[in-house]
Amino acid sequence: MQYQSTRGGVSSLSFTQAVMMGLAEDGGLLLPRAIPRINRETFDTWQQLSYPELAFEVMSRFIDDIPASDLKNLIARAYSNFSSEEVTPIIHLGDLHLLELFHGPTLAFKDIALQFLGNVFEYLLERDDQVLNIIGATSGDTGSAAIHGVKGKNRINIFILHPKGRVSPVQEKQMTGVPDENVYNVAVHGTFDDCQAMVKSIFGEVEFKKAYHLGAINSINWARVLAQVVYYIYSTLHITTHEKDLATSFSVPTGNFGDIFAGYIAKKMLPEGIISKLILATNENDILTRFVNDGDYSMQEVVATSSPSMDIQAASNFERYLYYLFDSEPERVKEAMTQFQSTGALDLSGYTEHIKRDFQACAVDHQQVVETINSHHQHHNYLLDPHTAIGVRAALELKKQGVPTVCLATAHPVKFGETVKEATAEDIPLPEDIAQLMQERGRCVEMQSDPEEFKTYISQHGRRSA
Ligand SMILES: *Cc1c(COP(=O)(O)O)cnc(C)c1O
Repeated sequence: MQYQSTRGGVSSLSFTQAVMMGLAEDGGLLLPRAIPRINRETFDTWQQLSYPELAFEVMSRFIDDIPASDLKNLIARAYSNFSSEEVTPIIHLGDLHLLELFHGPTLAFKDIALQFLGNVFEYLLERDDQVLNIIGATSGDTGSAAIHGVKGKNRINIFILHPKGRVSPVQEKQMTGVPDENVYNVAVHGTFDDCQAMVKSIFGEVEFKKAYHLGAINSINWARVLAQVVYYIYSTLHITTHEKDLATSFSVPTGNFGDIFAGYIAKKMLPEGIISKLILATNENDILTRFVNDGDYSMQEVVATSSPSMDIQAASNFERYLYYLFDSEPERVKEAMTQFQSTGALDLSGYTEHIKRDFQACAVDHQQVVETINSHHQHHNYLLDPHTAIGVRAALELKKQGVPTVCLATAHPVKFGETVKEATAEDIPLPEDIAQLMQERGRCVEMQSDPEEFKTYISQHGRRSA
């Protein structure tokens, strides 16, 4: 399988080249040249497979430059760290199915991709005798999942900036409580945007970036999307038997369009009639909802909500979908992205019929989040985190009678205990390993929001060679 850029300036990359490149060198995003199709017969045989076995079947159709036995090993190790043997178990709540994606080490769905990506990075660096210093900024979830994906790995150091005092206590300890020597946490006196600006500024310095083998681990890496395709397929195979012959809809709490884009790829791979609609759920930052409903992709100010991992306006994976919406014509993608960068808006109102073949969308506000958490606590004795509650609420609004609908549960409620308490008036008991983690002494340095200071720190602690 070869990979190419959505903007046409990069082509004929292998999977491993695409993974190491991350963002395409022409500023676009990397996509496989074609989406492999699975026929009904093959799909039916996948029923018997365990999660890692299924992951191998799905991923190996996109990866032809890692030997099968090595790929199997990378996958098996990635999912052996999950607390559920099924990896992503499905539970049933009234009319809805809930796909629990939070059984990894940091209790959020990003572990599913980053546990795999960490192994792939280590494997490729070993194979090619390279080293890597990952730098990134986080508002909470991504940084901790990235750290847990690469902690203790050979040939990789990771430097994660977070805004001091502005991530939740659990998130903070999930980063600073990690004892491995290759993990460097920096608390910045500033906001998340300041942290991001520091990272961006350093990535802009080509010489420094090269000399220190800097890399990113953000949501645009193709390997992350690919790892997420697996659980869509897994759930279509494992919802209750009487619904097996019906097409399934998915409701997905969305920020950067990464998770739901994986669902779109799964829909394209599987035979007709397996996946029905993808329900895109946003919080008050509703650019993607406006896009699906009215073709209005225009940026507004980001507002802070109780679902912080979805407080995003320009969705970094959106360009991948645009490529398919524009009939795989890179020139049109390039033109649209240039326009979006200069005006902050795209008028796609001529495309809504096309978009609605695959998507439905709904924005959910804080009051509805609280109500939804409260009612599921009362009626099902089940605690939803605020992100998951947004997907559940959207599904209840939009779900069609008789269509089995799977809601993606993207975080464990304990990660966002404050909102859960507001909704239920109950404190959530900390799981034992988290309670233990909270006792750890954190390892972290503090810094002003100054890229020069961060560069000095990287030059002191970055890996230069194996
Ligand atoms: C990252 C995240 C999301 C949004 O996922 P995208 O791929 O950015 O759309 C939703 N919920 C939680 C808990 C997250 O951490």
